[in-house]
Amino acid sequence: MLYLSRRVDFSATHVYNVAAWSSEKNESIFGRCNNRNGHGHDYKLEVMVKGRLNWESGIVVNTTDIKNIVNDFIKKELDGKFLNREHPYFMKNVPTSENMVDYIWAFLKNKFEGCELHRIRLFENHYLSAIRESDSLTCLTRKYHFCAAHRLHSDQLSTEENIDLFGKCNNPHGHGHNYYLDVTVKGKPHPETGMIINLTELDTIVERVVLNKFDHKHLNLDTAEFANLNPTAEAVAMVIYNMLAPHLPGLHKIGLWETEKNYFEYCGQDDDE
Ligand SMILES: [Zn+2]
Ligand SMILES: [Zn+2]
Repeated sequence: MLYLSRRVDFSATHVYNVAAWSSEKNESIFGRCNNRNGHGHDYKLEVMVKGRLNWESGIVVNTTDIKNIVNDFIKKELDGKFLNREHPYFMKNVPTSENMVDYIWAFLKNKFEGCELHRIRLFENHYLSAIRESDSLTCLTRKYHFCAAHRLHSDQLSTEENIDLFGKCNNPHGHGHNYYLDVTVKGKPHPETGMIINLTELDTIVERVVLNKFDHKHLNLDTAEFANLNPTAEAVAMVIYNMLAPHLPGLHKIGLWETEKNYFEYCGQDDDE
């Protein structure tokens, strides 16, 4: 099977509001997103299709066809619109990223000939994206940031072995990184709020459980988690997953960017622990 992806950008305005609720409740659940005059985003939409190679033409599907179908849809329905006021579906359903990705999935699902829709990913901004893949549940990924120092060193290896394996990262004084943490939750958007999880709650949990502990710290010296565990990025990803899992029932995946070049992912498989 081959996978092809096409990106389309658009801008739209929205507001998070449930008409049946009081303004106090709307404000407390949706925070700033509840501003009735609306706020906007430059969305990036990735549409991925899958199919088999046509040996005669050397293509799976003509990407111009994909482009035209997606562009027509975006132009007609979403680009430049105030979603809550102009789009029939989002007049009734809160235009959260989760609801939007599900709507786009349902619309595009049977529109392509010669290939099958595989995945829709919608970035609201650099820090928030929603994914719908095949017929599985919707995922929401929120990006967080922390800075920390660490030293790669294993007490179970000799000095020479540590230097051989970790090189300059074994510097006894440590060194630091700008870590970016992708927290992905999976679930069904709530029928009333359109959210898999309340973003303010998610932020509070990640802040309390992870960021307050690790941000601007020396992982080896300042945290109990790495007092006896070498804080490699893979270990940090796994530890963060295990720290968050009890607080986030829908936790699906932790992605950790140690640098822009090094990325690590952990989904909590039992056999890895
Ligand atoms: Zn927004
Ligand atoms: Zn490092």
